Amino acid sequence: MQRQFAELNARLAEIHDLSSAKAVLEWDQWTKMPPGGAAARAVQLATLERLAHQRRIDPGLGRLIGELEPYGEGLDYESDEAALIRIARHDFDRAEKIPPDLQAEFIQHGALTYQVWEHARPRNDFLAVRPYLEKTLVLSRRIAECFHPEGSLADPLIDYHDPGLTAADVRMVLAELREGLLPLVKAIADSGIEVDDRCLRQHFPADRQLAFGLPIARAFGYDFDRGRQDLTAHPFATSFSIGDVRITTRVREDHLGEALFGTLHESGHAMYEQGIDAALERSPLGNGVSAGIHESQSRLWENLVGRSRPFWRHCYPHLQAAFPEQLGRVDLETFYQATNKVTPSLIRTDADEVTYNLHVMLRFELELDLLEGRLTIAELPDAWGERMQGYLGVTPPDDRDGVLQDVHWYDGTLGGSFQGYTLGNIMSVLFYEQAVQAHPSIPDEMGEGQFATLHHWLRENLYRHGRKFTARELLERTTGSPEINSGPYLHYLWQKFSEIYGIA
Ligand code: ZN
Repeated sequence: MQRQFAELNARLAEIHDLSSAKAVLEWDQWTKMPPGGAAARAVQLATLERLAHQRRIDPGLGRLIGELEPYGEGLDYESDEAALIRIARHDFDRAEKIPPDLQAEFIQHGALTYQVWEHARPRNDFLAVRPYLEKTLVLSRRIAECFHPEGSLADPLIDYHDPGLTAADVRMVLAELREGLLPLVKAIADSGIEVDDRCLRQHFPADRQLAFGLPIARAFGYDFDRGRQDLTAHPFATSFSIGDVRITTRVREDHLGEALFGTLHESGHAMYEQGIDAALERSPLGNGVSAGIHESQSRLWENLVGRSRPFWRHCYPHLQAAFPEQLGRVDLETFYQATNKVTPSLIRTDADEVTYNLHVMLRFELELDLLEGRLTIAELPDAWGERMQGYLGVTPPDDRDGVLQDVHWYDGTLGGSFQGYTLGNIMSVLFYEQAVQAHPSIPDEMGEGQFATLHHWLRENLYRHGRKFTARELLERTTGSPEINSGPYLHYLWQKFSEIYGIA
């Protein structure tokens, strides 16, 4: 079997190289590339994707996996070899259903759409992206139909991002969460307390903001010898190899939060990818396991650490020293409350911890309505406005801060990618509580600017495994239950925000 196993490794490594090269071209497109490069770049990406996809569905690869499966079943379930054979089977079965030309067209269209969106958003020009988005919907449906789903057309798209989950599963988690969240939103509104966040809304020079965020990311454990940060329109993290995991951010000079919390968020994604066991490099095991687990890591560092009182007890004097004119006379408690102000707002990525999930629910429902044919792209801006009013009580003044607000949908995929944010929020608390149970000193260490114990726990229990275990297996291994239980997350939110808003 050693010969077959070596061949499997070689084939999968080649596919991984093509995907990584594609990621470099995408990173360049989203950070540095001049607009004139868009059409050629889209074709280059499509070519790489076609080459990768042809290899993914090569019948020879399928035969090889079939030969190795009986051997894999005899191996220790937790071994790298057994996991590689399992994941190779999963990826092959999925890829085989999608023709290479369709997959390449999907990628090419996504790259073109991104470039149109990037220019349409500042000009508030939904009509410019509308035909592109219509084609995105058609292509997303065609991809989903390749799987002949018995339930929702969204199921195969959700399964791609969060393997094993269906639209019905996600609906149930969101409904349960919503039931617990709405009373909290109401209690905060009824509290009569208006948190003053003017301290965040001053002029903060961009270079000083960026210079402040990076050392914190480094202190968290993001290794800049194996990473870097660049500017972009919509922040993301991307991995080219375990030795090169990059983040991006954007800065608003009239608000302190966006760049800082964006950097902490993306650093969480990057530390996950950097923490994968080096033995899994150049294999399909060498990436994060699902959108939900990935977001649990970004949201953990952004919120449970970055918006916590212990963190700011240590960090705030440094922030005051960086911005003495703006914050020299603002006390810690005022600043802490400002960074945790709950207010229904237009933009998901800027939303507070309480209302954030309402944005996700809105997007998830709109995606289902589009995919299942209850809504057209032409109707989307109005539907967006109505649901924003229904969920959050605010109506976007224009499409720029409404349906055009972020890159989702304009990167060429529609469906399946939103639930990860809320699943991540829920799981961030499940994991964090386990880390603190194992090491009760973690909150005090955060208060001293020390994050190594937390980082180490996450690396040992989550990061290093890459895709070896499913999301549910990781939950079971760490919490003792495979369930995505929203109870602890709701409890965390109630406790934190009851204190800030004086709710009895
Ligand atoms: Zn994220």
